[in-house]
Amino acid sequence: MASEYPELFLHIDGARLSADGRASETVVNPATEEPLGTLPHATQTDLDAALAAADGVNAAWRNENPDARGRILRGAAALIRERGADLARIATLESGKPIGQTRIEVEMSAGIFEWYAEEGRRAYGRVLVRQSPGTRMLVVKEPVGPVAGFAPWNFPLGNPARKLGAPLAAGCPCILKPAEETPASALGILQCLLDAGLPQGVASVVFGVPSEVSSYLIASDVIRGITFTGSVPVGKSLMRLAADGMKRTTMELGGHAPVVVCEDADLAMVLDASVGAKFRNAGQVCVSPTRFIVHQSLYEPFVDGFAERVAALQVGNGLDEANHMGPLIHERRLRDVSAFVEDARSEGARVVCGGRRVADPGYFYAPTVIADVPMSARLMQEEPFGPIALINPFAELDEAIAEANRLPYGLAAFGFSNAASVTRRLGDELEAGMVGINSFAISVPASPFGGIKESGHGSEEGIEGLNDMLTTKFISEA
Ligand code: NAD
Repeated sequence: MASEYPELFLHIDGARLSADGRASETVVNPATEEPLGTLPHATQTDLDAALAAADGVNAAWRNENPDARGRILRGAAALIRERGADLARIATLESGKPIGQTRIEVEMSAGIFEWYAEEGRRAYGRVLVRQSPGTRMLVVKEPVGPVAGFAPWNFPLGNPARKLGAPLAAGCPCILKPAEETPASALGILQCLLDAGLPQGVASVVFGVPSEVSSYLIASDVIRGITFTGSVPVGKSLMRLAADGMKRTTMELGGHAPVVVCEDADLAMVLDASVGAKFRNAGQVCVSPTRFIVHQSLYEPFVDGFAERVAALQVGNGLDEANHMGPLIHERRLRDVSAFVEDARSEGARVVCGGRRVADPGYFYAPTVIADVPMSARLMQEEPFGPIALINPFAELDEAIAEANRLPYGLAAFGFSNAASVTRRLGDELEAGMVGINSFAISVPASPFGGIKESGHGSEEGIEGLNDMLTTKFISEA
């Protein structure tokens, strides 16, 4: 076991519960395939304890002064920054992401807590115009109640912060099940909250077999809200479970982001930005640009320019500052990505560069560019969630917009043009929860992060994220 990796435990109602007697799994460094630590799985008794803790503190936390809740979140943000170097290193060990990217996640997590520390004070309702003297009509916002949050491994620090920030600010206790691949990062975020004064039991962190933990928590009468980030099929299955208790859901699911590059776009600028955005976290990002739909006049220079820039990317262990891209998260992802590329090859697509595993040990896959991709390739329908850029040409803008909107996904979409009439159309007509025009930057703590169509519903971050954790009550007084 790596000595610089912290001990793992469940954190339930203020207590650290270790593996003894519990089922467990080994957490693996994806860059070396070496074991990092042993992660205990929660038993049903453990989950019951977390539920009882959330239930027990619910009244006190929902009635806590929002300024006091804000002070805890702000304190946690300061601790996240103070412990940033350690948190970033742990997140890189677990996820393989380049250390520069996990440092950005430190800032992202602190920023989310700081923003919600403020926004929690603004869970405003409204007073309606009275119908007659002596009457009063109020619309008030109340915390939804205890929330079960499920965070994936691709942002080991940022996802737990997203899952905890809005519920805690709104006054909802939270049971978080982070990804079993990246547990120490999530426990590090929880520790910052606890050290900043979060009362015992308001947030618990559990691990286990994901489907078993989620079905048990969602079925409990204690849980009133569910927030999940992950794939579309799992999101649908959790919604079915939530339907039995008519529970509020926030679903941040997969995407297959199109990028429309118009003939007047600044080619060098688009290429520089695209390669950075595509291979961030080896493409394992829900808003990763995936289908590049490029005007035919720029098509060949775009494909060549993309491949040239990819050739300069250094792939390797994320702890080495020189590396631009790390490994995939686990062997399953490596197999999925390889199968996608082999399928595209066999369908007649042009693999311009990459298209193979690199280095062994480690789950590394070469940054891959595929051009002239036929519709019959699975990659044109399914989310690759890996380091694969697909490039196809278009002639007319209508055609490009139709292709961008063709899939059932609707998380992020991007468009590049210098003509106002075109950017206006792209903003209005691209079907996505987030649209980047001449930019891939589509997330700050104040902005709603979420999708439409099968990419889900609800938002994380922004006032919308807080609103997802609040119910609306109308009070009419005669
Ligand atoms: P996976 O579907 O097994 O796991 C993805 C995430 O969902 C993990 O964090 C896992 O713990 C969780 N999960 C899976 N089943 C669950 C359940 N029944 N209840 C609660 N949580 C559950 O796949 P994977 O190979 O680890 O990841 C690849 C796929 O996951 C991709 O296709 C992608 O769509 C999706 N994913 C999406 C995001 C995102 O940001 N939207 C992040 C990570 C993974």
